[in-house]
Amino acid sequence: MDDVKGSLSIQNVTLIYGKGEKQVLALDGISFDVRSNEFTVIVGPSGCGKSSLLYIAAGLTDASSGSILASGRPVDEPGADRGMVFQSYTLFPWLTVRKNVEYGLRRKTMPQAEREKIVDYYLTEIGLSGFADHYPKQLSGGMMQRVAIARALANDPDILLMDEPFGALDSQTRHSMQKLLLRVWEHSHKTVAFVTHDIDEAILLGDRVIVMTARPGKVKADIRIDIPRPRTPDVELESEFIALKRRILNELRDEIDEDH
Ligand code: ADP
Ligand code: MG
Repeated sequence: MDDVKGSLSIQNVTLIYGKGEKQVLALDGISFDVRSNEFTVIVGPSGCGKSSLLYIAAGLTDASSGSILASGRPVDEPGADRGMVFQSYTLFPWLTVRKNVEYGLRRKTMPQAEREKIVDYYLTEIGLSGFADHYPKQLSGGMMQRVAIARALANDPDILLMDEPFGALDSQTRHSMQKLLLRVWEHSHKTVAFVTHDIDEAILLGDRVIVMTARPGKVKADIRIDIPRPRTPDVELESEFIALKRRILNELRDEIDEDH
C-alpha cells in the first residue's frame, strides 16, 4: 500500500456555490485519481471549476458532495501534506525571502541548523541564494513565484497543488520558470496537480493532461503524455508534441464552442 502516500483521489465531487436562485453548479460529479509521483495537469475553459477543485483538495473549500482523498485520507482541512502555489503572489511582505521559505518549517519542531540547511537547499534550487535577505517587494514577479515554490517544497509536502502559478508572468519568465520546475521536479518527484491555461505548458510539464468540460466541470478527456524525461522546451518542436497539442486543442475547442 506504499503507493497510497502522495496519491490524490477525486471521488464524485460536486460543488454548488450560493443559495436559492443564485446557485451555481461549479463541479458536477468529477472523478479522477492522481497516482503518487505523477505530474497531472488540468486544463479547461475559464470558469469550469479548476481553481475550485484545487481549493477542495487543499481543504480550503468544502465539496457539496463527494470527497477527495489525499494519501488515502479524506481531506477536510488544510494540511502540511499538501502544498499550494497560487497565481497571485502569496508571500508574506513583512518577511524576508529566507523567512518566507522557512515559514512552513517553523511550525515543526526542528533544530535551527537543520531548518537553515533545508532553506538553503531550496534557495539554491530556485537560484535565489543571493536574495535570501531581500523582501518580496524587492523581487520581480518570477522571483516571487520561485520563492512561493521553494516555500511549498521546503515543507516537504506529499502533494503539490499549483493553480496557474505562472499565469501572471511574461512569456520569457514563464519559460524559464517551466524549465526550473522541470528541473526541481526531477529532483523531488512530488505528486503534482497543476492547473494551466497554456497547452504548451501542460504538455511540456505533465505526465498526463486532464481536460475539463465547460461549467459544470467534469472530466472530458484524460490524455497521457508519453514524452520521455528529462524534458526541455525543445520538445515543443517535435511531431509527437504537436500531435498532442492538436488533440488537446480539439477537446478544448468543443467545450468553448458549446458555450456560444
Ligand atoms: P476556473 O478556475 O476554472 O476558472 P473557478 O473554480 O474559479 O473556475 O470557478 C468555477 C465557477 O464557479 C465559475 O463560474 C465561478 O464564477 C464560480 N465561482 C467561483 N467562486 C465562487 C464563489 N465564491 N461564489 C459563487 N460562484 C463562484
Ligand atoms: Mg482559476
